[in-house]
Amino acid sequence: MGPGRKKSSAKIVFIDPVKQRRQRLVGGALILVCLFGLGYSLVGIGQDGIASAILPSVPAAERSRPSDNKDSVAGEEEDLTAQKAKEETRRPTGAATCDDVRVLVDRSHTLPTDYAPKDLISLPAYGVPTLGGREMLLRREAAEHLKSMMAAAAADGEELVVASAFRSYAQQQASHARLKSIYGSGADTMSATPGHSQHQLGTAVDFTNAAASYQIRRRFGRTSASGWLQTHATEYGFVLAYPPGHDGTVYNFEPWHYRYIGVENAGRLEQSGLTPQEFLVREGVTPDC
Ligand SMILES: [Zn+2]
Repeated sequence: MGPGRKKSSAKIVFIDPVKQRRQRLVGGALILVCLFGLGYSLVGIGQDGIASAILPSVPAAERSRPSDNKDSVAGEEEDLTAQKAKEETRRPTGAATCDDVRVLVDRSHTLPTDYAPKDLISLPAYGVPTLGGREMLLRREAAEHLKSMMAAAAADGEELVVASAFRSYAQQQASHARLKSIYGSGADTMSATPGHSQHQLGTAVDFTNAAASYQIRRRFGRTSASGWLQTHATEYGFVLAYPPGHDGTVYNFEPWHYRYIGVENAGRLEQSGLTPQEFLVREGVTPDC
């Protein structure tokens, strides 16, 4: 296709850039208002809860792309606006903040609907045990350290199985919607709303094992494998993201949920005496992608 044709097609979709920017700002503000509204309902609750426990049984939703989950698109102009906004998320500086292993994601720091890391790899294909051998994805560096960590745990006689890893915005949305259909407004106390889950980063994993009946439950915290993780995970760059004794501050204690932040960062976190949340707030990497 020559440059001439490109020009003529651009003429067809021309829209006033000032008007477009205004629409984008208004749209963005509305989305922010909605997300904050939902965010408030998440105060002091678990980010996985039952959602993770039932998620592995719903592979259908896992295949849908985040962009398929837009609530409603009124017309072509908004399509173009969305496309333009998407292009802007590819700016290197913005993407770098979401790809940073220290990026802060909580009820007031949100990941965009279309954010997904580019270096996800298959855990079962990489030789990492997953629940029922199901397909699960994790960022490469995190997966490498996870594999070493799980091999070391196995060598010490501890069984660990990955019950959940990367979850796209669409997957989180689907699992949250499913809970909502069963539990109504109570669902907000069981799982993070879409965009607020560390699982969208591709660096968080939930563990289970036979002693925890292969479920994602607090009971996992009383297993010897959980004790092993609490002693050794930082050596592999993983941290217990929501430790005990801090319920109500960010998310409640989730003994099964670990997040990879890198060996050096995990060491600094341990030295600091801060919780992972406090440490990441101090690091100051907020999602801008
Ligand atoms: Zn989790």
